[in-house]
Amino acid sequence: MQRLKGCMSEEKQFHVEILEVEAVTRNVGRFVTRKPEGYEFQPGQATEVAIAKDGWKDEKRPFTFTSLPSDPNLEFTIKIYPERDGVTDRLAELEVGDELIIGEPWGAIQYRGPGVFIAGGAGVTPFIAIFRDLEKREELEGNRLLFSNRTEDDVILAGELKRLFGDDALYTVTEEESATYETGRIDKEFLKDKVGDFHQHFYVCGPPEMVEDVIDDLHQLGVGDDHIVREEAA
Ligand SMILES: Cc1cc2nc3c(=O)[nH]c(=O)nc-3n(C[C@H](O)[C@H](O)[C@H](O)COP(=O)(O)OP(=O)(O)OC[C@H]3O[C@@H](n4cnc5c(N)ncnc54)[C@H](O)[C@@H]3O)c2cc1C
Repeated sequence: MQRLKGCMSEEKQFHVEILEVEAVTRNVGRFVTRKPEGYEFQPGQATEVAIAKDGWKDEKRPFTFTSLPSDPNLEFTIKIYPERDGVTDRLAELEVGDELIIGEPWGAIQYRGPGVFIAGGAGVTPFIAIFRDLEKREELEGNRLLFSNRTEDDVILAGELKRLFGDDALYTVTEEESATYETGRIDKEFLKDKVGDFHQHFYVCGPPEMVEDVIDDLHQLGVGDDHIVREEAA
């Protein structure tokens, strides 16, 4: 199994000013910040992020870059959990001009070749950077996306994903009926029905429970660990 672990130890820190904040869905925000000079990362990588305000500077949480390494600024796409009274709840209160503290980029998911991307909710974020990079390199073809969300309105960047994938993306919602999307969880039957070829790469990212369940299903369908790239990021 390809599990690239991150290093959250004492590392270099960078203060970055927030340049843009906007809502992506009802509970997901887009944060654009300045990029430190010479800062480099790979699509799919994450970094530890803290809020540069008293009492919050040591509260680091991992978030994935959704911008491309070649973009002039950094972009994060972040799901807010107001009920947790944690960092994301505070992030929702930030404005242009406020600062974040980021660490160095680390591991997480990396592209290993064409395959099926399986995402749950905010777990799609590492895939976003990979998709944007593949589009730029004209190598998106041959990849598919299976994207599970609670409701239709929760689909992050629905318009962009539609443009990138067209019919090569399949959406399912788990907490409402839908005339547009499939309904129900991504389980073994769903995979058997929608995928067919299990001799390719599978990228899995979402809530930890979903990741474990989907990987179990993939194992049962004959996918070896050497063809599974995973992260638990939502
Ligand atoms: C490598 C990696 C990359 C990631 N990238 C992204 C990304 O790009 N975008 C994104 O949106 N997310 C991403 N995540 C997930 C993100 O890190 C978490 O959503 C974030 O840490 C939550 O921080 P928080 O302080 O708001 O809440 P937490 O630190 O999770 O929780 C704060 C407090 O709330 C309580 N709590 C914890 N869990 C729950 C729960 N399930 N229900 C109720 N209360 C709870 C606990 O008391 C906890 O102390 C990533 C995760 C990883 C590992």
